[in-house]
Amino acid sequence: MDSSRIHEVDPEVATAIERERERQHASLQLIASENHVSPAVMAAQGSVLTNKYAEGYPRRRYYAGCEAVDVIEQRAIDRARALWGADHVNVQPHSGTQANMAVYHATLEPGDRILSLSLEHGGHLSHGHRVNFTGKLYDIEHYHLDESSGRLDYDAIYECVLQTEPDIVVSGFSAYPRIIDWEAIQTAADEVGAYHLADIAHISGLVAAGVHPSPVGITDFVTASTHKTIRAGRGGIIMCDETHAEMIDAAVFPGGQGGPLMHNIAGKAVGFAEALEPAFATYIEQVVSNAKTLASTLMDGGLSLVTGGTDTHLVLVDLTESHPELTGQEAEEALESVGIVLNKNTIPGEQRSPFVTSGIRIGTPAVTSRGLTEPEIDTIGECILAVLDAPDDEHVADSVRSRVDELVQAYPLYDDSTEATLWPSLPE
Ligand SMILES: *Cc1c(COP(=O)(O)O)cnc(C)c1O
Repeated sequence: MDSSRIHEVDPEVATAIERERERQHASLQLIASENHVSPAVMAAQGSVLTNKYAEGYPRRRYYAGCEAVDVIEQRAIDRARALWGADHVNVQPHSGTQANMAVYHATLEPGDRILSLSLEHGGHLSHGHRVNFTGKLYDIEHYHLDESSGRLDYDAIYECVLQTEPDIVVSGFSAYPRIIDWEAIQTAADEVGAYHLADIAHISGLVAAGVHPSPVGITDFVTASTHKTIRAGRGGIIMCDETHAEMIDAAVFPGGQGGPLMHNIAGKAVGFAEALEPAFATYIEQVVSNAKTLASTLMDGGLSLVTGGTDTHLVLVDLTESHPELTGQEAEEALESVGIVLNKNTIPGEQRSPFVTSGIRIGTPAVTSRGLTEPEIDTIGECILAVLDAPDDEHVADSVRSRVDELVQAYPLYDDSTEATLWPSLPE
């Protein structure tokens, strides 16, 4: 967090880092996939570990000098096992996408079939989008949300699995605000002998805290990003049972990656230690409670939400009825200009392009890390409603901007003078 040394070498990058720190402090981050890690996680990621090569796994390395990094990787593994209850965890994937890549590499041959939810309905690029390697290497089929309810239709998924006979079924999503029934999808996968990958990139923190059912022990593989709700810095992980451990480890290294990013693995270890503290469950409960509060404020103000609410950390707003002229893109821009940062998102039955869209996705993990609770979330909801109703009105923009300013000043972020009070619930 001290960029003074970067200043001496590279003032341009140092200034840009400072600008980004100020942007994060001075605006409200409501992108559902983002979070603010603790200063301890950031320190681990910015450490000497970035210098170390450690190809292989703890106590089975291809390089000398791995005693200290072995401790770090083993602790990351032990803590992940404790958090999610998996037999086996690989903490080396560089990101969530690389975790998924390793699972496909372990289980599929090129041309084999993946069945997943389409990106437009809330899936992820790495689930088989045509611009992604998955769309080029594998044969992709999609199941869909029920367009009237916006929900997963488990009977339709079952039928779809029987019809398409995939080699692997992928569940777990980027923009789905409801509880996922892993068992229902597993039953379908079993019917055709397909593998089942549950990608909990978004909800890994909710699963660890017990506020969303866990797929661990139900599906063959579970992958996650570590920088979203679990708040352990950028990276990915894969979980499976002992029978699949060897194939997963080989698919990560040497199958798809070289040396592990030991500094990021240290970030995971530290973030997982924080998540094992009782305060983390309190944090996650607050994340969900904040999302529910936001959902009610927005619905009371006349917005429609896909599925009519949320069980998780995010809400998906469908603007087509309340604001037919306003695109997701315009909403995103108008809100960013007043310090409310979120993203445009496609909605079930989307008529516009993915660059334009008719929806916005709003998540509460980052603002909750900052300390915001229901009253402040209610204010944010009111601000969003005001801007959506009058996206070009300067008076509205000014008044919202000043309410945002009050909030960010009351809840400072990574301000050196307040660091000690920012993360009061974390271990020393
Ligand atoms: C975020 C996300 C990922 C992983 O993304 P990375 O940016 O590669 O970490 C994978 N799957 C889903 C469903 C996601 O939302």
